[in-house]
Amino acid sequence: DNAQPKKPDWIRVKAPTSKGYFETHKIMREHKLVTVCEEAGCPNAGECWAQGHATMMIMGEICTRGCTFCNVATGKPQALDVFEPGRVADGVQKLGLNHVVITSVDRDDLDDGGAEHFAQTIRAIRHRTPGTTIEILTPDFLHCEDSVLETVVAAKPDVFNHNLETVPGLYPSVRPGARYFHSLRLLQRVKELDPTMFTKSGIMVGLGEDRQSVHQVMDDMRAADVDFLTIGQYLQPTPKHHALDRFVHPDEFAAYEKAAYGKGFLMVSATPLTRSSYHAGDDFARLQAA
Ligand code: SF4
Ligand code: SF4
Repeated sequence: DNAQPKKPDWIRVKAPTSKGYFETHKIMREHKLVTVCEEAGCPNAGECWAQGHATMMIMGEICTRGCTFCNVATGKPQALDVFEPGRVADGVQKLGLNHVVITSVDRDDLDDGGAEHFAQTIRAIRHRTPGTTIEILTPDFLHCEDSVLETVVAAKPDVFNHNLETVPGLYPSVRPGARYFHSLRLLQRVKELDPTMFTKSGIMVGLGEDRQSVHQVMDDMRAADVDFLTIGQYLQPTPKHHALDRFVHPDEFAAYEKAAYGKGFLMVSATPLTRSSYHAGDDFARLQAA
């Protein structure tokens, strides 16, 4: 029986109808930009796009990995588009973003995993709109030389995010191409390379993890000096994707949030609709003002 647990009231998604949403949509299409908001079918698109917040996905729409929770297509990716960094910078300027989140597909086909393309995109945005804070959400650069991380860090994003996605015990079924300790070490190395850079990571819950493992992941992240944490509810994109185990109650999210602050994270978002990039700009601005 493949019956899904019924969606509870707290997972309610409003259909996008605002003028701001359509305006953002138009700018994305005009600049031929791909967004993770659309690719992942993110439930917050109506709200985020109405405010001009969007997460751009660079280096194409086809990923070399096949994480079982993810809706992005797997296959042989397209060649890198050298004009993309400029188009992203244009789009950021048009949208008038104070804070932008840039992510990408995984590019195991490239020697540097796309590190230089990330760096160029960061530099292009800095050049065009120096006041915009930049958050990147990167792949794990698993098959690359250690030095590729230096390339990305040297471009000085304000926030370096790499998601652990789930607890280590679920890696084989959720993130089969990745390694938990490699991802953790990547976050730690970013901090070692530039102690002034904020680091961020996140996981989904509802995939079958137990609470104790979630606490262990938080402790591992803090041991790697991760500053910001996001925890959100997994939503199964299609019946072919990883099965949904359960809908985690908002009270349990609140308990995770409280525990995370107790462990020393500077900024925590743990709610059913939390995504890596949800309210990322507002949260970061608040932290900088504090
Ligand atoms: Fe896009 Fe992130 Fe907002 Fe979802 S939460 S719509 S991915 S900016
Ligand atoms: Fe999706 Fe990222 Fe996994 Fe690729 S590496 S399948 S884009 S989560």
